[in-house]
This record gives sequence, C-alpha cells and structure tokens, in this order.
Amino acid sequence: MKIRTGLAGLFFFFFTGCSGSPTYTEAQGFNPGHEPQVRVWLRSLGNADEVTIGGAGEVLVDLEGVSLRLPLPLEIERHGEQLWMNGRNANVSELTVHPGEADLEVRGTAYSGFLVVRAAEQLQLINMVALDDYTLGVLRGELPLPHVDPAAAGAQAIAVRAYTMYYIEKKRDVYDVDDTTLYQRYVGQKLAPDDLNLRSGVYATRGLYMSYRGRPLKAYYHSTCGGSTTDEATAFGEPNRLPLSGVDCNSCQQSKYWRWATVVPEQKILEAARLKGPLQGIEVADQGRGGRARTLRLRAGGKTKIVPAGDFRLRVGPSLLRSTYIVSTGRVAGGWKIEGGGWGHGVGLCQMGALGLAGKGLSATEIAEHYYPGAQTRKAY
Ligand SMILES: [Zn+2]
Repeated sequence: MKIRTGLAGLFFFFFTGCSGSPTYTEAQGFNPGHEPQVRVWLRSLGNADEVTIGGAGEVLVDLEGVSLRLPLPLEIERHGEQLWMNGRNANVSELTVHPGEADLEVRGTAYSGFLVVRAAEQLQLINMVALDDYTLGVLRGELPLPHVDPAAAGAQAIAVRAYTMYYIEKKRDVYDVDDTTLYQRYVGQKLAPDDLNLRSGVYATRGLYMSYRGRPLKAYYHSTCGGSTTDEATAFGEPNRLPLSGVDCNSCQQSKYWRWATVVPEQKILEAARLKGPLQGIEVADQGRGGRARTLRLRAGGKTKIVPAGDFRLRVGPSLLRSTYIVSTGRVAGGWKIEGGGWGHGVGLCQMGALGLAGKGLSATEIAEHYYPGAQTRKAY
C-alpha cells in the first residue's frame, strides 16, 4: 500500500503511548551506572535544507507528542522554522524518527539509535545513540586500517568513551559532539576494514573510560606522536593536567608519518602567518615536550613575527603540515621544505603507538594508562 502523507491522511496510523527508546530530553546528561546516550550532530552531512531518511520497513515518527507510523523513506525539508515531511507541512520545528526493525539510513550510512530532526538556522540532524555504539562508530572513522589489534582498539575505545563523557557532562543544548574531527570522526555503522577487531575491542572494554580526579578525562588522542607525546600547554596553550602532560612512546615507528618532509608554498606560509612577503626565514622559536614547536619565528619584509605553532599548522593545512614536531626548514624550488615527524596534535594516546604496544602484548587498559599517566580506568556501566 502506497501511503500518501499529509497529517490528515496519516490519521489511520496515529497511536500514542509508544515508546521504548528514551526520549530526547530524558536521554540528556550522564547518569552514572547507566550507559549514556550521546547526541551526535551529523554535521558532516552539510547545510542542505532537505534530507531523506531511508532504511527498511516502518518507523515511528514523533511530532512533539503525536506518534505516527510511517513507511520509509521519509523526505524531510526545512521551511524557515517549520519542518515538512513528504511534501506536507508537519507544523513542528522538531521531530524524532525511531527505527523499526532496521537501522535508519542517511545518505547511504546506517545509524544505530534514533534521529532527531530540527529546523534551526539550518536543517539539523542529531543521532541519539548509546555510548558503546557511538564508540564503535568513532573507531570505524578513526582507525580505518587493514589490521587493528583488539587491545589497541580497546585502548582507543577507553579514550573515546572518556572524551565523549567529558562532553556529555557539559549538558549543552541540542548536541554533545558532532561527527567531524572537531570532536571525533564518527561514521555510524559504516564498516571499517578490520571491523571484527574494532568490535572486539569495544565489547571487551564495555563501559570503561579514563577518569581523572573523579571525572571523565578529556582524553585527547592523535595518529602518530613521532617518539614522545606532548603536553596541552605546548599543543593548545592550555594549562597542563598530569594525564595530558606527555609520555615517551617510541612505539609508532611503523607509521608512515614517523618522519616526513613536505614542501609548503611560500604564499601559504605568508597567509597562515598573516605576513607580507618575501619570506626570509621560518624556524622553531620555542620547543615544548616531545620536541614539538610551541611557537615559530618568521621573518618577512624586514619584520620578525612569532606565531603559535599549533594555530599556524591548522591554517597551513593539517594534512600538509602533519605536526608541529619540526626538525628542519629550508628554502627550495616552489616553497619551503619542512622536515618533521608525527601526525596530529601529539597530545594523549598515540594511535600508531597503541598498535605497537598491543603488538608487544600490552592489554587495552595497560595501553590507555600508559598514555594517560595518573588517570584511572573506571567502569561507568
Ligand atoms: Zn607514538
């Protein structure tokens, strides 16, 4: 039966009292002893004002207290502050889609849990998902490698839970984290090359997270430290907490980015430093833990400027200048050659180092506790 939409036409499918999943508001916050729900803004889907929710079978759509059973797909559009569903005004600014038998899908990716659609300044999709399912979706996004030892996946899962619970505890409006690298890359149910081992790592560490002074640690992590991890002060200019003050790693040599060389066009450097050329020199001015540059000194047009290395790296492009662990700089044809090591900001767990330590036989908790000294592994649920 083809079901036409429009709320009057849907009255046949109207019923109430149907729950099962927690509601949007009930699920906010972190309730010790229970697996928290995470509100993940699917920001990577972009700014489009319409979205199709796919999947199989019928779903339950909650329209501010009224529940409707509808077949998929659902086409949802934003018109100002109102949402339209399958071409008709739904007269709400927020609706919730609960899955039926199968996970909901958006643009070919399946998501565990349910979806909240909001008419904000743009159409906003929030995935409400249990923390362990979210953790697996982050491992799939963050560790797309052919082989990930379950102990390394478990250590990463312990870090992901802590980092996420740190944000859940903030109890912000609307969402806790988004699905981009601003927080953690989350790809829902999109399988990774070594999905079985990622799942094994998440299940084996269920509910475990890093705790520091009785609270979830903002457990930063990165791809490759290049020898030693660095501290928050060097990387972000933030005060140092003991678990994020840097440790020796020396287990990430198998990373492609253990050492690297790159050529950055001069114009890019000048723009990133907000200087006018020609560029006469760029060098490390001040070094922090792990050999990472805290600041860089640039000379251009007769002026000398000191810039924070982390900001400079992000403005140049974090995939071009892979880290602030810089060992040499020099002028070459086409720009400036920069040699260094590591990939990422260098704080907290080193993902490639965790793989190395797992290969040496360390357990998930041993690896996590190595990278977050002074923090404890706790079980939240
Ligand atoms: Zn490392």
